[in-house]
Amino acid sequence: MSNCAEVVIIGGGIIGCAAAYNLAKKGASVIVLEADDSIGNGGSSRNGGGVRQSGRDPRELPLAMYSVEHLWPVLSEELGVNVEYHKEGNLRLGKTEKHMEILQGLTDRATACGLDVKMISGEEVRAINPYLSEEVIGASWCPTDGHANPLIATLGYYKRARDLGVCFYTGEEVVQIQKVRGKARRVITKKNVYEGEKIIVAAGYESRKIVETVGIDIPMRKELIEALVTEAEPKMFPQMLGTADADFYGHQTDHGSFVFGGASGFESVNKDNGTNATSSITAPCICRGIMKYIPKLANAKIVRTWAGYEDLCADGIPVISPVEEVPGLILACAFTGHGFGISPVVGILLSQMALEEQTLLDMKEFRYDRFHAVI
Ligand SMILES: Cc1cc2nc3c(=O)[nH]c(=O)nc-3n(C[C@H](O)[C@H](O)[C@H](O)COP(=O)(O)OP(=O)(O)OC[C@H]3O[C@@H](n4cnc5c(N)ncnc54)[C@H](O)[C@@H]3O)c2cc1C
Repeated sequence: MSNCAEVVIIGGGIIGCAAAYNLAKKGASVIVLEADDSIGNGGSSRNGGGVRQSGRDPRELPLAMYSVEHLWPVLSEELGVNVEYHKEGNLRLGKTEKHMEILQGLTDRATACGLDVKMISGEEVRAINPYLSEEVIGASWCPTDGHANPLIATLGYYKRARDLGVCFYTGEEVVQIQKVRGKARRVITKKNVYEGEKIIVAAGYESRKIVETVGIDIPMRKELIEALVTEAEPKMFPQMLGTADADFYGHQTDHGSFVFGGASGFESVNKDNGTNATSSITAPCICRGIMKYIPKLANAKIVRTWAGYEDLCADGIPVISPVEEVPGLILACAFTGHGFGISPVVGILLSQMALEEQTLLDMKEFRYDRFHAVI
């Protein structure tokens, strides 16, 4: 197998795999380098599966709305695998007047951007989802939000990309990018050297260390968050749930299990030794939240918990951008805990950037140079 390609992608998460697939579809030669022994073992297989437009930063909304309108509904067909996509709404729940104020603010910002989302009363919430407790006094309701299966979607992109000729190398930890004649060209791993005319860095938080080797810094930090899955329950409801207080979010999967995520605030304090270890505090904390909102799940059995890192950008939205100072380098990181829902459109946009085509959406909000000091 060759060590040279038109595009070398660093990181085999859903962003790297979706970019690889879209590039290969256009006939480009692509190499994907993944540090782990398996594809998609970062945030991409650990996330809560939310395909959400509501609750997003308005700058990110066009990406989410485009994905929901045009890409998620046909993704299973496109990838040849059922990604378990459901577009049956998102309820963001409130129990106090303070919660309702938070929800109203989010709703106002989203409707101003053209999203169909509205505030509804507790009675209206229970008409949509009768399992929610009387403690819920209202919610924001976005009927076009939904959820999908992150592992199947990530591996779906991977498999289709491979079918189209993309070379994936696992166990290849990138340690450096080198310039040749002023352009990013060489990608050095612990074992090998690869070359590409364009280099896309989609390695989550680790992107920061990688691009530092060509003098670029992305202001982001990483944070560990946790999730859990229950035994299969009888079918209850199809909506994605979240709360104004962010104490949990989640949905019921096709299999019947519920996947819930959340944080106790103690993850990094207690356990962040650089591994994806769960803490003993967080799952009980998430469960206490869930039981108040969905009493029927009080006896549901948890079969597994896990943790994953988010790559949080200083200004709350990703960096998806070529870098003027380093021609040939394209950044795709700092997804700030929202990257799964927008991954289908990000894959297309990255392929357009790498092939120097006009991007289908205006990407100026996601540029790297937004961090330049204003003189
Ligand atoms: C618990 C949890 C819940 C979440 N819930 C949601 C949700 O409901 N909805 C939503 O939209 N988003 C959610 N997210 C965020 C979402 O998972 C991410 O934004 C998305 O997966 C980002 O994809 P990625 O490909 O950039 O990152 P990753 O999947 O992390 O992929 C990066 C890859 O780069 C590899 N890598 C790292 N360093 C190197 C190196 N030096 N060389 C080579 N490869 C390297 C890693 O091994 C990894 O495979 C959640 C995240 C977590 C952790």
